This record gives sequence, C-alpha cells and structure tokens, in this order.
Amino acid sequence: MDLAKLTMMELRGVLRKGKATSVDVVEAIRDAVAERDPRVGGYIGLDFETALAEARTADAKLPMGGIPVAIKDLINVNGQPCSCGSRMLAGTYRSPYDATVIRKLREAGAIPLGRTNMDEFAMGSSTENSGIQLTRNPWDLDRSPGGSSGGAAAVVAADMALASLGSDTGGSIRQPASFCGVVGLKPTYGRVSRYGVVAFASSLDQIGPITKTVEDAALLLGVIAGEDPKDSTTLRAPVPDYVKGLGADLKGMRVGLPKEYFIGGTAPGVRAAVDAGIRKLEELGAELVEVSLPHTEPAVAVYYILATAEASANLARFDGVRYGHRAENVNDLAEHYRKSRSEGFGAEVKRRIILGTYVLSSGYHDQYYTRAQQVRTLIRRDFEEVFAKVDIIASPASPTTAFRIGELANDPLHMYLADVFTIAANLGGICGLSIPCGFSESMPVGMQLLGPALGEGAILKAAHAYEKATEWHKQRPNP
Ligand code: GLN
Repeated sequence: MDLAKLTMMELRGVLRKGKATSVDVVEAIRDAVAERDPRVGGYIGLDFETALAEARTADAKLPMGGIPVAIKDLINVNGQPCSCGSRMLAGTYRSPYDATVIRKLREAGAIPLGRTNMDEFAMGSSTENSGIQLTRNPWDLDRSPGGSSGGAAAVVAADMALASLGSDTGGSIRQPASFCGVVGLKPTYGRVSRYGVVAFASSLDQIGPITKTVEDAALLLGVIAGEDPKDSTTLRAPVPDYVKGLGADLKGMRVGLPKEYFIGGTAPGVRAAVDAGIRKLEELGAELVEVSLPHTEPAVAVYYILATAEASANLARFDGVRYGHRAENVNDLAEHYRKSRSEGFGAEVKRRIILGTYVLSSGYHDQYYTRAQQVRTLIRRDFEEVFAKVDIIASPASPTTAFRIGELANDPLHMYLADVFTIAANLGGICGLSIPCGFSESMPVGMQLLGPALGEGAILKAAHAYEKATEWHKQRPNP
C-alpha cells in the first residue's frame, strides 16, 4: 500500500487500525517527493525532520491525527520560512508564530509538512509569477498547474500530499484545483481565520482546503473553520459537522445556471464536460433553474481595481526595514526603499502596486475605487437575489483547461480575463468549490458550485453526491 496515494479518510482508517504509523506516512511522502517533485516543482520548502518528530508523537484518535498537510507559502508556521513565493522574503523571513489555521490543524492532530509554490504574493493564475521556481502541471509537464495556489494543487494531484491548504482571493484555490483535477474549496468570507496569513487583498482573501475527495474537503474545512478573536472579520457562526452533512441524494435541491456564465467564450471541451456534469446533478434529483447575475461583465474590472488597491496598502510593509530584502550600498532612506523594493518584488507585483496606488490617488479615487465599491455592492445583491430562488449555482470553474507554460505569461490582461467565473464569489463574499467533472484533450476540467454565505454544507453535499456517482476523481496523473 502506497500511503501517499490514499485520501485522508482512507489514511485515517489505516492509522486508527494501527496498520501503519504517521512516521510511515511522512516517509511515504518523502519518497513520493523524491520521485516526482524534481519534475513537478510543487514544493519550495520541506522540513522532514520536524515532521518526523511530530509524527512520532501523533495521536491517531484525533480527527486528523498523524495526517500531514501541505501548506501554501503564505501561511505562517512557527519556525519555518514563509516567502509568499517572493524573493522579497525568501532567505530573510522565518515565522515566529503559527497562523490560526495551523494552530487548529495541530489541535486536530495534523502535521504541517512542506511549503508549496505560488504566484508571488498570490498574484496570478499560473504560478509563473513565483520568484522562486516554476511549477508544472502533473497531467502535462508543459502546462501550468494554475494559480496562485499552483503548488498546493499540483502536490495533491501528484500524490505528494494527502491534502493542502491554499488561499483564494479571486479563484486561487478553485482554478488550480480545476486545472489539476482535484477538489478545491473557497469558504465564505469570514468562515476561516486569516490571522497569520500574509495579506494580498484583505476584503477578499480566504484560506481553504485542496483535497482528493469532497469528504476530505469537508473534514479539513471543519477543522480550520470558526470564529477567531484574532481576526475580527471571522463570522460568529457555529461550525457544523460538514462530513456528517454529506448525503447521496439531491432531491429537492435547486441548482441555478447563470445565463451570463454560459454565453460563449468557454472552450467547447470544457463546456461539454460541465454540461454533462450539470445533467448528472439533475439525474441525482436536483432541479435546474436558469438565473441571472446581471453584473457579471464588470466583475473582472471591479476585482482588479479593489484587489490592487488593497494590495498596494498591504505590501507597503515590505520595505527592507521591517520586513524583506534590504538593498546594499544605498545613500539615503528614499534610495533604500526604492532599491529594496525594486530588487525584491517581481514584475507582476510591481504592476499591481502601481495600479493600486493609481486607483487610490487623489483625483482618481472616486472615479475608480469608489465606483468599484459601488459595483461590488451590486454584485453582492445579484447573488442575494439568486440565492433567494436556488440553493446553489453551477458553472465552469475556468473557461479553459490548463494554459501552456508561457502561453499567457506576457499577456496579463488575457490572464486576468480568465478569472471571469471565480472572482465574483470573492466580491460577493460567498463560498464556492471546484470538483473534477471530466477531461478535455486529456486535461482535467472543473465544475464550480457556488453557495450563499455559510452555504458550504450545501455545495459539499451536492459535490459529494456527484463524486459518488462519477469516477473522475479517481483518475490520477503520472508525472
Ligand atoms: N488570479 C487572480 C489574481 O491574479 C486571483 C489570485 C488569487 O486568488 N490569489 O489576482
């Protein structure tokens, strides 16, 4: 039995029966990484010694006892480097504390193992903006794993991790999950604490699970969710037992199909796989309802105004004084800032800081930032109106399968437009997931299910019923 290939639920059974130990699991991951990561490049840091020490004292009776989880490189794990995929922080920063999600993982018995590659500061959709290395899609090494949580999705798809934690500001969990053929869930804004997570756009960021099955996503979400006194934006709402809530039957569930998400622009192979997925939901008892999200078209523009505005403020702290790379041979403070930031940040991060500073500058603030906030309210209302009529929404997760490496790297606008199906959920503060629903030209396709605020139970239930009735999630790449 190859322990790295199991799901978390399967592994939990194995560990509880004493058929293997947590040390065996960490060693299995070490072997899998040695064999496959030289080609995939999903990890940018791995500390097996610490993980083995933690594995030796693991308690299999806990909900995730002895199970290693890979961590996107923007979540602080005490004593480990945290570079956000940036040369700004690589080699200079080590976390002095655990993020709340890491504390919760530890309390559930899990072991944080490995730092996964990402677009620098989570800005991107292909992981090509990483300042550290390239990550390749395990299904086709000439393609991108998606982004920005590309490493986190690739290591799960390639059985180099049982599960991982990613972050999603505009699709960065769902899109790489769809590109790599795994499950990725973005929780409702405020469902999961952001304490100890390096901020990109604070009103949009959420941490969530990337897993091999829906049941595993339910398990991991239940562990990390909940109110946190250290993050005032977390919601004061009890955390249900998401695993217990999974049932097989979708009778009576109303699934909305937003007409704006099905009007062309989506690759035919993606469309065909998602259409078949939606028919399957209907076979399982769901009722399909056409709905409208009229403010879909401006969503990409609104996102790239608000996200860059927030990023320009959040990234001000990386100045080589408090945090980050410090330039040498400077004559004065202004030169110190200029040189340190010029050398530390990559091109996309600079582009976003410049854009964000521009939309906030006096004279333009009302025209861009304030207007974008107003349209954001309309987008939020669109969802409220639709969720008064339906339980969940179904759509593609991305208009295409994984891009070829280099295909869009020098075409930022085109890359931004590819976020069209995922970003509205962040602007609306609602939850969403991507689940494997087929292949197009041998590359995985993801179906996105969106739910209302705190509707994680409903989208997990629908996704689980779908997964039980299909075989897509059992397909594994062979990188
Ligand atoms: N692709 C989007 C961006 O580049 C989303 C990134 C994310 O969710 N972190 O901003």
